[in-house]
Amino acid sequence: MALQAGERDRKNDNMSVDYKSTVNLPRSSFAMKAGLPNAEPKLLERWQRIGLFAKLRAAGQGREKFILHDGPPYANGNIHIGHALNKILKDVINRSQQMLGKDANYVPGWDCHGLPIEWKIEEKYRAEGKDKDEVPVIRFREECRAFAEKWIEVQREEFKRLGIEGDWDNPYTTMAHAAEAQIVRELGKFVMNGGLYKGVRPVLWSVVEKTALAEAEVEYHDHTSMTVWVRFPVIKAGHPELDGVSVVIWTTTPWTLPGNRAVAYGADHDYVVIEVKEIAEGSLAVLGERLVVMAGLLAEVAENAGITIHETRAVIKGQALSGTLLAHPLRGEGYDFDVPLVAGAHVTTDQGTGLVHTAPGHGQEDFEIGVKYGIEVPQTVADGGTFYDHVPLFAGLHVFKADGEIAKRLRAAGKLLAQGKLVHSYPHSWRSKAPLVFRATPQWFISMSANGLRDKALEAISQTRWVPPAGRKRIESMVENRPDWCISRQRAWGVPITVFVDKKTDEPLRDKGVLDRIVAAVEAEGADAWFTSPPERFLGPDLDPEDFEQVTDILDVWFDSGATHAFVLEEFDGLEWPASLYLEGSDQHRGWFQSSLLESCGTRGRAPYEAVLTHGFVMAEDGRKMSKSLGNVVAPQEVVGKFGADILRLWVVASDYSEDLRIGPEILKHQVDTYRRLRNTLRYLLGNLDGFDEAEKIDAEEMPELERWLLHRLWELDRLLRRSAEDFDFHSLYTAIHNFCAVDLSAFYFDIRKDSLYCDRADSDRRRAVRTTLDEIFSCLTAWLAPVLCFTAEEAWLTRYASDDDSVHLRLFPEIPAAWRDDELAAKWEKVRALRRVVTGALEIERAEGRIGSSLQAHPIVHAARDYVAAMAGVDLAEIAITSSATLLEGEGPDDGFTVGDIAGVVVTAALAKGKKCERCWQVLEEVGENDAEGEICNRCADAVGDVFAAAS
Ligand SMILES: [Zn+2]
Repeated sequence: MALQAGERDRKNDNMSVDYKSTVNLPRSSFAMKAGLPNAEPKLLERWQRIGLFAKLRAAGQGREKFILHDGPPYANGNIHIGHALNKILKDVINRSQQMLGKDANYVPGWDCHGLPIEWKIEEKYRAEGKDKDEVPVIRFREECRAFAEKWIEVQREEFKRLGIEGDWDNPYTTMAHAAEAQIVRELGKFVMNGGLYKGVRPVLWSVVEKTALAEAEVEYHDHTSMTVWVRFPVIKAGHPELDGVSVVIWTTTPWTLPGNRAVAYGADHDYVVIEVKEIAEGSLAVLGERLVVMAGLLAEVAENAGITIHETRAVIKGQALSGTLLAHPLRGEGYDFDVPLVAGAHVTTDQGTGLVHTAPGHGQEDFEIGVKYGIEVPQTVADGGTFYDHVPLFAGLHVFKADGEIAKRLRAAGKLLAQGKLVHSYPHSWRSKAPLVFRATPQWFISMSANGLRDKALEAISQTRWVPPAGRKRIESMVENRPDWCISRQRAWGVPITVFVDKKTDEPLRDKGVLDRIVAAVEAEGADAWFTSPPERFLGPDLDPEDFEQVTDILDVWFDSGATHAFVLEEFDGLEWPASLYLEGSDQHRGWFQSSLLESCGTRGRAPYEAVLTHGFVMAEDGRKMSKSLGNVVAPQEVVGKFGADILRLWVVASDYSEDLRIGPEILKHQVDTYRRLRNTLRYLLGNLDGFDEAEKIDAEEMPELERWLLHRLWELDRLLRRSAEDFDFHSLYTAIHNFCAVDLSAFYFDIRKDSLYCDRADSDRRRAVRTTLDEIFSCLTAWLAPVLCFTAEEAWLTRYASDDDSVHLRLFPEIPAAWRDDELAAKWEKVRALRRVVTGALEIERAEGRIGSSLQAHPIVHAARDYVAAMAGVDLAEIAITSSATLLEGEGPDDGFTVGDIAGVVVTAALAKGKKCERCWQVLEEVGENDAEGEICNRCADAVGDVFAAAS
């Protein structure tokens, strides 16, 4: 509809006067095609050269701080799309907070210790045929450190390439000496306040990696287990009906039977005593024997055991089983202890026999029952997964291979009632993928009850802002139910548990002087000092090394990262404790958010953060998990190389990151289109602001309504921007800005104002008002887009304001005058735009039917209801409809008029505009050719041209 510069060139070829040179065509060096993969690295160099990070800090001096504390990624490989999402989101938030007028100092960090790196070095050893246990621990630790250092370098460059602004020259790492010293200091606080204790407890254990695993290191996969139904003969009946019967248990882990010390029943459930009357072929049941199971599970047990006919001899309540003693099924072969029947709240009615085999060393609930009834916690399995030498019958046997042997022994002893198989969800190591076992070992724990840690943590959760709010419930229920925190690992790469145990009392040594000496050594030499120094160095002159045992376990890496708040927020210049925000994937309710919470509540009595934001995970385009085998992995490095980092950044805010996100070729293509629209908006602004200066500006109150409506829109968007930044919700803001560019600007405002910009006298009030408005829009858009399109916003800004050392990122979000708000005008223009849609729709039909060429040839006659006519007061219908003339009448229109869309009472008749076409602006006007000496142009153009030609001559 509007004139295109190219078309104008063609038209002008035949003209005697060169009007083309008198039209104010847009001019800008801001290219249509972005070329981001090449352009972005140059901007990164520029920011490095001008010291942007230091400038931001200088600008932030004295302002309110906003500290987003970086959750440290693990330094063991290239970054993947999840890392990119996480860091980009952090960057968008930091940049927004800085531009809101705060000091958003961001110090990135890395998690360096732990099993995955050890595992890599061990893999290398295995490939080289070396035995890890023969390498001195210090050498091994050096290799781990070098490995982490290498990947920190790689990831640092990858993160920088995404445009993440932060103190990349001074990041934190958990393996820095100062960090290790602070971690030791933090551990010392738990030693001194009695929160740390040594206990024998079942822990989830990997026999492959030979270590306890944290819950966050566990994955659940289907696993096929052998199942057995086993008789436990009653040797002392607590109820007369139990005399001479066998209690039947069922288990999916036969290898835990050597650790059996009790059988649990549900006190409120009904149990039956049956006598076996008939059996199927191959059944291990014996005719005439009497068995006890839960009433509700009898049918299932009978079927599995091949018992075809049975008689019920008695039905008794669970509580009547109390006081009964059983024989272990392998009694007489080293298992001669009595096995009590005890009540257990965890006994369920859905599977098994309703009588639960209880091995306090092999499960959390079993352990708790053991504690309640004072039953011993036997240690039966060594770290590598074999039974200890003291375990009768099975010493030296690996637990993964023991089920068959145990079933054989049970059968030989006449205690195996049935055998089967079950596929069920079972814990595995996330690293080696090997199935895990619960194993009772002496470990170090942080008590959830000592010093009221659990209560403090729950209170801190209630004081924290969780975004989205559902996060609160999640972490609350985890903290309510979690067992004590097992912090010891039998590994080498980490901060050691710097504790001496008193050989006489088995208690950790609580001595401030010793602790200070350990911290000083670690501060100077790193945690290696614990392994390389003689104990005298730490114990000092007054304590005898002979009286103490030095612990060589290392700390759970979650303790390291849980203490980052202490060695980063409290120690780094320009930071502050607590953090304003922690921001990670939603799995960290179990991981970092929780370890930080517990560490901080245990040492400082509150959370180390004010707010916690979680985001979802990245899925492939089709909603499936990304995997190499499916070929649907999207690597951030590839997206950046092909499209540019700004496209990836746009994708992050375009997604609803409170849920899982999707990415793939189609989604990226869509983002490229969106990007182009935003870029073209900037290009239009730059082109039409060519040569604009302060003197040209015009006051808002002197502007036409259309411009004042635009300013009102800027006011609205600014309000949304500030609310979005406060809510960390860039998704809604992105949608609003995109619509503003595509709908309000490109399809409406720019379209209407092209004529004024190109053809009005350069100094006309209208054109000055338009350019003043474009200037405000440019100022706002470059600022609003800067946190997201950090490269493109800078490019646009520098295109307009070339500078050696300035940057769009040093700006604040523009302050929008409250006077720009005009709700009445906005309501009026709602109607104007609705009416315009009908008119342009009708003209579209006229064009499609071939009755007019451009809309400028038309003269629409519009009939509209009173409220629309009222809304049009002071508005030129021809101008907003991009026609040469127009007539607006109140009332019902003719029956053959057009009504487009669903706006009642607006009818358009499209007549042809009367007059001749102006050769300069193409408007068809009666005045053209009548009083113009220069040629076939209109009065407005004559005025504009006269001015230009006069200036030229
Ligand atoms: Zn004209």
